[in-house]
Amino acid sequence: GETIRIGIAGYGNLGRGVEAAVEKNADMQLTGIFTRRQPADLVPLHSGTAVYAMTDLAAYEDDIDVLILCGGSKEDLPQQGPALAAQFNTVDSFDTHARIPEYYDAVDGPARASRKTALISAGWDPGMFSINRVYGEALLPDGDTYTFWGRGLSQGHSDAVRRVPGVAGGVQYTIPSETAIDKVRNGSRPQLETREKHVRECFVVLADGADPAAVSEAIVTMPHYFDQYDTEVHFITAEELARDHRAMPHGGFSIRSGNTSAEHAQVIEYGLTLESNPEFTASVLVAYARAVHRLNQQGRFGAVTVLDVPPGLLSPKSAADLRAELL
Ligand code: NAP
Repeated sequence: GETIRIGIAGYGNLGRGVEAAVEKNADMQLTGIFTRRQPADLVPLHSGTAVYAMTDLAAYEDDIDVLILCGGSKEDLPQQGPALAAQFNTVDSFDTHARIPEYYDAVDGPARASRKTALISAGWDPGMFSINRVYGEALLPDGDTYTFWGRGLSQGHSDAVRRVPGVAGGVQYTIPSETAIDKVRNGSRPQLETREKHVRECFVVLADGADPAAVSEAIVTMPHYFDQYDTEVHFITAEELARDHRAMPHGGFSIRSGNTSAEHAQVIEYGLTLESNPEFTASVLVAYARAVHRLNQQGRFGAVTVLDVPPGLLSPKSAADLRAELL
């Protein structure tokens, strides 16, 4: 079959995950990594992987079928997403939920004008959890949807913490409430406040001379990210950060609980236990890159989300094989 040529824009945790995930997909190959830093300074997982300057991307337009955008949601994607969707088919993991509608609009125009397909906000949340929320609501209209995250390190929130002035480094853990999960699983459809479901815990290394009170205040009041939660901020040393907070586990549950009659409650649960959040997220992005390539060939231009993509397009198998083997 056809080989899908992938480019990676931005080489952090997610970018490394994409490099690893492409290798697991026999129908894909990596054209190269594109970075805003000095290409020679990057150490890819594989010595054979090409590294180029982001400013040279235009020269590779004919060598990349889908560019996977691995920049951060807070600062990078709002600028890179619309700009790169004017040149390439793209997949990204934009995860600031409250801003998805405006980000969709910002990417849609340039992509449509260039006859490119730009899939935004893939991953697991937004992403696989979003799909399960839609299935849950559609299948059990008389019901409630619940999403729990963690315990895990949230890359989006850690990214946001690290960009606060006075922060030299840091991580954020999201911790779900067991009591709340048990109530949901037994079908009792509890009304849970945002604060009852999760706690956010930050471990922060201060920059030289930074004021801990000011840093703490800036974090806990940050709109969308922290203002609706009880957030604890702990200050630690750079050594402690490196020693105790290197792994990036995550996971969570997407649960729909509903009633199909007065007698019967039904519960749908989709759960993820992830040893590496970025590697799993990257695997999702790579599967969606296959779908984006096909959608573009079918003439579906502009911005799309995971909710617009038929599941069969994610698979390297043909529709006939999927009917025979997985239906
Ligand atoms: P990251 O490691 O901070 O990388 C973000 C960007 O920063 C990279 O593209 C890279 O761009 C630059 N960078 C990385 N390491 C650097 C370094 N040592 N020095 C200077 N610049 C560096 O972020 P990430 O963990 O890959 O996460 C990216 C985004 O994925 C997050 O913001 C989050 O929104 C999203 N995400 C979404 C989901 C989901 O389920 N939807 C799940 C997980 C994560 P250059 O190479 O151009 O410098």
